[in-house]
Amino acid sequence: MRLSRYFLPILRETPKEAEIVSHRLMLRAGMIRQESAGIYAWLPLGYRVLRKIEQVVREEQDRSGAIEILMPTIQSADLWRESGRYDAYGKEMLRIQDRHERDILFGPTNEEMVTEIFRAYVRSYRDLPKNLYHIQWKFRDEVRPRFGVMRSREFLMKDAYSFDLDQEGARRSYNKMFVAYLRTFDRLGLTAIPMKAESGPIGGDMSHEFIILASTGESEVFCHKALLDLPKPSPDLDFEGDLQPIVDSWLSHYAATEEMHEPARFEAEVPEDSRISARGIEVGHIFYFGTKYSAPMNAVVTGPDGQEHPVHMGSYGIGPSRLAAAIIEASHDENGIVWPESIAPFKVGLVNLKVGDEATDRACEAIYGRLEAAGVEVLYDDTEERAGSKFASMDLIGLPWQLIVGPKGLAGGTVELKNRATGERESLSIDSALARLG
Ligand code: ATP
Ligand code: MG
Ligand code: MG
Ligand code: MG
Repeated sequence: MRLSRYFLPILRETPKEAEIVSHRLMLRAGMIRQESAGIYAWLPLGYRVLRKIEQVVREEQDRSGAIEILMPTIQSADLWRESGRYDAYGKEMLRIQDRHERDILFGPTNEEMVTEIFRAYVRSYRDLPKNLYHIQWKFRDEVRPRFGVMRSREFLMKDAYSFDLDQEGARRSYNKMFVAYLRTFDRLGLTAIPMKAESGPIGGDMSHEFIILASTGESEVFCHKALLDLPKPSPDLDFEGDLQPIVDSWLSHYAATEEMHEPARFEAEVPEDSRISARGIEVGHIFYFGTKYSAPMNAVVTGPDGQEHPVHMGSYGIGPSRLAAAIIEASHDENGIVWPESIAPFKVGLVNLKVGDEATDRACEAIYGRLEAAGVEVLYDDTEERAGSKFASMDLIGLPWQLIVGPKGLAGGTVELKNRATGERESLSIDSALARLG
């Protein structure tokens, strides 16, 4: 992509309305634009990041055996009346009437709808387990939308729903998502810690929030320091094998959100110098809720005993739009964003230091062409901005590599390769620079 033809509305000034660094940087880097309170348009740079996050989430869901579908954003109130949640959900639900004065709503989550789909087709335990997921916009009329896309009213969610014959099966499904989440956040460059969370009326120990530590986080959390360094499950893991030992290795250390925190246990189980008490951002939440929806909505399968059983369900959420902000909270410096390579909007920023200088233009065009041909995502700054301002913009938008090309270097046969994360700069021949990026 040539910057001169792109749409990258960078702001030089720090927007006053933004209270936290990720919100400031997303606005300054031209990633998002607020359209009304808690409702954002995703501009080209932001949208590239969002799609990449979504793709990592999708690949790890698929790897775990979950199956992608797409459910609508609009749902009928009648469906929610079946589960009893239409009245219970309260003001967070955006309620709408269509031209026939039928009550509809903009989905805040999809348990009812996926249960309706399941019960329409699945009859036998032989068809289980199943896990259906989608990545779709949600609306929740948050009391206090804030921090940009961190807590917005319209937001993107990956929500998966598992169906099993019994609780034992549901635990296996739960474990698959637990492990898939560890892998997902690791690939996104985050250390997310699964923490015991409120499990609602069903009880049991099968509800975990995945939390990344950040001073701007809205939750208060408590955990053992060892959790920051536990090894993450590898990609060749067999998801059909026994995942319990992996899950147990994480659950053997104390970790709880504020609602579940037991100070006495925390102090007894965790030596003082290993105690972390911090703030965190909820980036994912997994939940087993048994027959809460299947029983009232009559989603039953025939078991091996020939009897009908309501299915045991779990739901599993990740917020890709919140993640875009959370990753910036975790990875930035005083000059701007520092994207992990896995989700960077472009891998390389090619900086032409002297547009109009024939040799420099020619070298840049050749490099640009070779990077594109090699399938390396490159943003070519071919504008007539000053060098200083080009450097500032590149640092702000946080591409992992900057390839800087100017007449002085070229005279000696070199270009400069800068690593955004470390700040290291190296003079290299064009060929070796390209070999590094290929
Ligand atoms: P929170 O405690 O932050 O309000 P939640 O517990 O209500 O979140 P869940 O119902 O567990 O959220 O939804 C699953 C995931 O969706 C969350 O872990 C989060 O990543 C994302 N999410 C929830 N609400 C929002 C929001 N208002 N804006 C952006 N992402 C959100
Ligand atoms: Mg909420
Ligand atoms: Mg929560
Ligand atoms: Mg939650």
